[in-house]
Amino acid sequence: AKEKKVAFITGGNRGIGLETARQLGKGDGIKVVIGSRDLGKGQAVAKELRADGADVDVIRFDITKPADYKEAYDYFDKNYGKLDILINNAGVSKETFMAPNNTSTVTQAVLRETFDTNFFGTIELTQVLLPLIKKAPEGRIVNLSSILGSLTLHADPDSPIYGAKALAYDASKAALNAFTVHLAHELRDTKIKVNSAHPGWVKTDMGTDAAPMELPDGAKTSVQLATLASDGPTGGYFHMGEALPW
Ligand code: NDP
Repeated sequence: AKEKKVAFITGGNRGIGLETARQLGKGDGIKVVIGSRDLGKGQAVAKELRADGADVDVIRFDITKPADYKEAYDYFDKNYGKLDILINNAGVSKETFMAPNNTSTVTQAVLRETFDTNFFGTIELTQVLLPLIKKAPEGRIVNLSSILGSLTLHADPDSPIYGAKALAYDASKAALNAFTVHLAHELRDTKIKVNSAHPGWVKTDMGTDAAPMELPDGAKTSVQLATLASDGPTGGYFHMGEALPW
């Protein structure tokens, strides 16, 4: 039998991460490990996913705690000796998207908290896990960005996001996109693919009930990029298979 792929999804206990775990874990080829800040919550959802036919385990994981990167490394190293798929899904938004442009008023605290999770933590975790991803036959790294990280669209008066400007969140996702491009370049001669995902505006705690997209569709972009074929793209920014402008 073919060896199972192993996937790690940060922030997998609710929202898009949870739905991504459900969809990825349902095939017979992928073992999904979800990271959850609250181990009890993670275990409860893992139990549901297993009942639903998905192969899922859970580890306690907080993206703002550097000690957790090493713990995650040790967990995958000890149990699998590799990591095939890393989905950097954990993210926060501390601003109100529908409020007017907050650029002149957003606080340093909000900027720093947002960047700690969406950018600094995500980068350091990826750096720590990269040696294990290199041990997998064909690694895949998916960074959950957002269309709100597109500088091209923010600068375009005709774009649908022109009026939605929240500096901390938007800049954290633009910076994450830079990480995608730079890491993909560093890994260009390997089989590892690194891409940014815009899931859509999805009904989750973050997306709110006003969002038009339901969870099953909201996880599709992450699942697609996590399971790209060998000839698939790297260093790209995608929504449902369509490239977005940076
Ligand atoms: P939710 O707010 O519904 O869920 C966020 C998840 O991230 C939770 O599991 C949460 O865990 C986890 N998380 C937050 N902070 C940390 C942390 N410090 N350490 C570990 N986990 C953490 O968000 P969504 O599911 O909507 O979003 C998932 C990703 O998709 C995010 O990166 C988001 O920016 C992005 N995105 C979402 C869109 C949408 O419309 N929903 C649109 C574009 C992008 P806990 O339960 O412990 O808080």
